Amino acid sequence: MTLIATDLPAMPKPASAPAPPVPIMDLKAQYRTIQDEVLDALREVAESTAYVLGPKVADFEQAFADYVGSRFCVGVNSGTSALHLALICAGVRPGDEVITVPMTFVATTWAVSYIGARPVFVDVDPITYTMDLRQVERKITRRTKAILPVHLYGQPADMEGLLDLGRRRGIPVIEDAAQAHGAAYDGRGAGTMGLCGCFSFYPGKNLGAYGEAGAITTDDEAVAARLRKLRDHAQGRRYHHDELGYNYRMDGFQGAVLGVKLKHLDRWTESRRRLADRYLRKLATLPLKLPVEAPGRRHVWHLFVALHPHRDRIRSELEAAGIQTGLHYPVPVHLQEAYADLEHRPGDFPIAERVASDCFSLPLFPEMTDEQQDRVVAALRDALTRDREDRP
Ligand SMILES: *Cc1c(COP(=O)(O)O)cnc(C)c1O
Repeated sequence: MTLIATDLPAMPKPASAPAPPVPIMDLKAQYRTIQDEVLDALREVAESTAYVLGPKVADFEQAFADYVGSRFCVGVNSGTSALHLALICAGVRPGDEVITVPMTFVATTWAVSYIGARPVFVDVDPITYTMDLRQVERKITRRTKAILPVHLYGQPADMEGLLDLGRRRGIPVIEDAAQAHGAAYDGRGAGTMGLCGCFSFYPGKNLGAYGEAGAITTDDEAVAARLRKLRDHAQGRRYHHDELGYNYRMDGFQGAVLGVKLKHLDRWTESRRRLADRYLRKLATLPLKLPVEAPGRRHVWHLFVALHPHRDRIRSELEAAGIQTGLHYPVPVHLQEAYADLEHRPGDFPIAERVASDCFSLPLFPEMTDEQQDRVVAALRDALTRDREDRP
């Protein structure tokens, strides 16, 4: 039997029905808007049997290179793999040093450690929470083989100064652009400025696959060729391996999904930017440290992160009001147990530590409605005005 919607008696909503929770992101809402296109592309891959690399991956690589404004793009199986291969191509070897930041997702430094190199941290600046240029030069040694800034939360690091410094000292800059698809610095795309840009397409990223995926962008043809070889067991010719290789290939299914989703990315980014702007206006008078889009930088708002010294209490009040929040990131990398051998102490990188202790991420995703956002704002205002002593 088929039920037609109009056959159903009208069900008046009880006035007291609690509003559904506001999630920090909503991948189902996005899937519903592109379902037919995605399923068609996935069916093509299933029928073609091009399950690993293949034409969908090649088409996506070209489209993504064009999108960010680089000559080449090499698809891989994660952002972590992208970073690993990019650092190898930068010439990082066991025992070398890579300058990076402690306020990031730990994969940034995993890639350094996979090589047997050492992450050397500099703190982030207190406005953008990206690499503090002024601290980099004094950390450079004979062993420094790469500078690895992170475009955190979707905002590019201070690239002009970093690229300048890299050029002066002969050290390649590798961009961790895993959170910054479509971001820009002085009109130049994130991931196109250094020797390589490393992207993640983890499902929750601004451009997300339906599984694991990543990519490296570069303008250097020889680097692109080496990346293609390294991701595929270092076979230049089949079953001939002239160096240590990796199985870091991208799946055909992921290439297909990403090719479909890339066509929507500008629209999704515009929606994120509009919502971020709306948060900034509506939260401006609250006692919170709000994120800032620095002059000359195009922020793509992967995350909207605010700071408050009582963030744990605020988060639990928001949760009670049905508002989901996140922590990006609660422990800075230099204080992770896995990096105990680096012998860092609390106080070594005070800005990163303050972000870690005070940060919380508000819901922000392209499909978020103004009504959902207004509920977040109202709940936050309640939580912050209840106790007027809670000033940052
Ligand atoms: C997500 C992320 C990565 C790792 O990407 P995966 O695809 O999860 O391996 C690296 N760096 C940053 C800053 C990230 O946010």
